[in-house]
Amino acid sequence: MDFNDSLEEAAYREKARAWLAQNAAEHRAQFGELKPNTDQHMVAAKAWQARKASAGYACITWPAAIGGGGGTPIQSVIFGQEETKAGLSYGYFTIGLGMCVPTVMAFSNTETKQRFVSPAVKGEEIWCQLFSEPAGGSDVAALRTRAVRDGDEWVINGQKVWTTGAHYCDYGILLTRTDPDVPKHKGLTMFWIDMKDAAVECRPIHQMSGGREFNEVYFTDLRVKDSQRLGEVGEGWKVALVTLMNERLAVGGSSGPNYREIMGLARELTGATGPAIKDNAFREKLADWYVQSEGLKFTRFRTMTALSRGQTPGPESSIGKIIAANQMQDLANTAVEMEDQYGILIDPDQAPAEAAFQQSLMWAPGLRIAGGTDEILKNIIAERVLGLPGDVRVDKDVAFKDMPTGR
Ligand SMILES: Cc1cc2nc3c(=O)[nH]c(=O)nc-3n(C[C@H](O)[C@H](O)[C@H](O)COP(=O)(O)OP(=O)(O)OC[C@H]3O[C@@H](n4cnc5c(N)ncnc54)[C@H](O)[C@@H]3O)c2cc1C
Repeated sequence: MDFNDSLEEAAYREKARAWLAQNAAEHRAQFGELKPNTDQHMVAAKAWQARKASAGYACITWPAAIGGGGGTPIQSVIFGQEETKAGLSYGYFTIGLGMCVPTVMAFSNTETKQRFVSPAVKGEEIWCQLFSEPAGGSDVAALRTRAVRDGDEWVINGQKVWTTGAHYCDYGILLTRTDPDVPKHKGLTMFWIDMKDAAVECRPIHQMSGGREFNEVYFTDLRVKDSQRLGEVGEGWKVALVTLMNERLAVGGSSGPNYREIMGLARELTGATGPAIKDNAFREKLADWYVQSEGLKFTRFRTMTALSRGQTPGPESSIGKIIAANQMQDLANTAVEMEDQYGILIDPDQAPAEAAFQQSLMWAPGLRIAGGTDEILKNIIAERVLGLPGDVRVDKDVAFKDMPTGR
């Protein structure tokens, strides 16, 4: 394991820092500080993405010929670290560029790739992932959205849920059931679809944080051409695995306040028994968070070393999300309790630490579910990292139409 940048990596980091210093300043001068999930925030996000694309800093590992940076995975990690430090990370493109467009690139023809990849890299078009349904979340292969062939077209009816960004996205990748007579994993087919089609209806889900990031999405006789199919008929699971493998890497860490910030807060707050920082129960928790954070740091170094050597990180990257999301929730919960009556304030101008812990508390449960719940990640770690016996899968060989539904 090597913790330091090589000479080439250090040079790349310097170049990225210099570019970010100049361009982040210009971008801020143009747009100022904006609230997320507003129209203007989206305009600023698209402008930043276009600026990165023109300098080769968007999709760094993709070939320059398709709009990428022609760089290496480690360069992509380095730029991501510096961009986060510069405080300019817009989340709108993560699902599209991290998961959907790579799937389109892997399973579509040259014409489709030429049409879609470059506008996505430049931030002109945004993509969403339409997998989860009320009956198919962790067990996504149990989904029910039906696609029926009609000549050179497919007719799609059904419902998705928790679709991040569906309300502002231009295109999506949609996993459907095309054959209910075979076991669940074998009767699926993937398509790309136009989210602005009149047969696609997005209904927003309002969150406790006041945000509106997710949607229910309904399809009523949506017609798509067979040329919109990604992969072979009945091989949608193989296509979905490519998306899901990319998801594990894309939904990696957490960006909320950490143990250092809660230590700062504890120095400022005084409870019934004196300063919070002197409280033994708090100090014990602080020690746990520190140990976890160091463990995460070294696990990340291991991933970076693998990338630096041209290797692909394995299923052990699931450890990062499970630890980070649980720590985020525990830490935010403790901080909000310490803030006492101020813990219920969400206005950054009034709440301690600009309400960062309140925001974290409301986001953490979602992070523990998105991209694989705690239990699913534990199964992955048990089976694929530790080599323990597999989960019980009783419906593996049963035709989908014969699976019990409770009705
Ligand atoms: C922030 C966020 C963003 C999301 N964005 C998207 C998106 O853009 N597109 C999309 O398609 N989906 C998205 N989702 C949905 C997400 O993929 C699902 O919520 C997730 O896969 C869990 O599915 P579920 O909600 O149906 O829960 P279920 O699968 O019903 O799980 C319920 C509970 O049962 C447990 N469980 C299930 N199976 C097992 C098992 N085999 N062993 C042990 N325990 C088990 C789970 O861990 C969980 O605690 C998003 C979710 C969140 C929270």
